Amino acid sequence: LVVARDVVKEYRSGDETLRALKGVDLEIRPGEFVAVVGPSGSGKSTLLNVLGLLDVPTSGRVELDGTAVADLSIAERTRLRRETVGFVFQSFHLVPTLTATENVMLPRLAGSDTSGAFDRADGLLESVGLDDRTDHYPDQLSGGQRQRVAVARSLVNDPRLLLADEPTGNLDQATGRQVLDEFAGIADDGVAIVAVTHDEQVTRFADRVVTIVDGRIDVNAGDDSEPDADADDETGSDGTASH
Ligand code: ATP
Ligand code: MG
Repeated sequence: LVVARDVVKEYRSGDETLRALKGVDLEIRPGEFVAVVGPSGSGKSTLLNVLGLLDVPTSGRVELDGTAVADLSIAERTRLRRETVGFVFQSFHLVPTLTATENVMLPRLAGSDTSGAFDRADGLLESVGLDDRTDHYPDQLSGGQRQRVAVARSLVNDPRLLLADEPTGNLDQATGRQVLDEFAGIADDGVAIVAVTHDEQVTRFADRVVTIVDGRIDVNAGDDSEPDADADDETGSDGTASH
């Protein structure tokens, strides 16, 4: 569904250049649930933005649904993004002057199929346990409730790729579980999910864990290994120079 090849992303401010991604290769298949972990500032949010066409790489190639993103005009890129991708942003990005339901509906109203948007929005809010908060404004909601509004909103256009930045970061275990169950359900329907997380509950749920360190995927970080019976066995591979 998404392919990234040797993706480099640099941010420029004045004559400073910061290389946030230093050559990332990644492939996400439909229905796959991938957790992305790594230290603060390692490039996780940057990677989501690039995979979700919110930002373009400085070099390298991104393909979404077989289309090379670099070949698209801005309008085409926006359209592909709207039709394909749902985002849960690290800081939620809710519109303060809209109610929970209206926030969830909003991406639907930007598209061509606006029918049933209201019911769909309320249904999604119910699925994340917010059926009693639909008419509240963001500043009347707790952090965890806002986060769940953002989760509901990310699903309103039935994305095929869901990119979620710490989707359970403000949630207690039970509420986080509710969000994960929602995610597991849509992954079963073939939606690919990439979730940046520090939450072990999420990494346990994921099909695959990708570790990013300093703008690169760390292939020595025990990716793919099934966390089996005798847990805490994660010593070992500590950065022994591998080339
Ligand atoms: P965190 O876990 O704290 O959210 P992260 O892994 O998501 O961190 P990014 O937000 O991707 O990290 O940032 C990677 C690097 O790029 C950081 O050094 C950050 O300061 C820098 N950066 C991110 N966004 C921008 C921007 N818009 N302009 C300039 N530098 C940026
Ligand atoms: Mg981040």
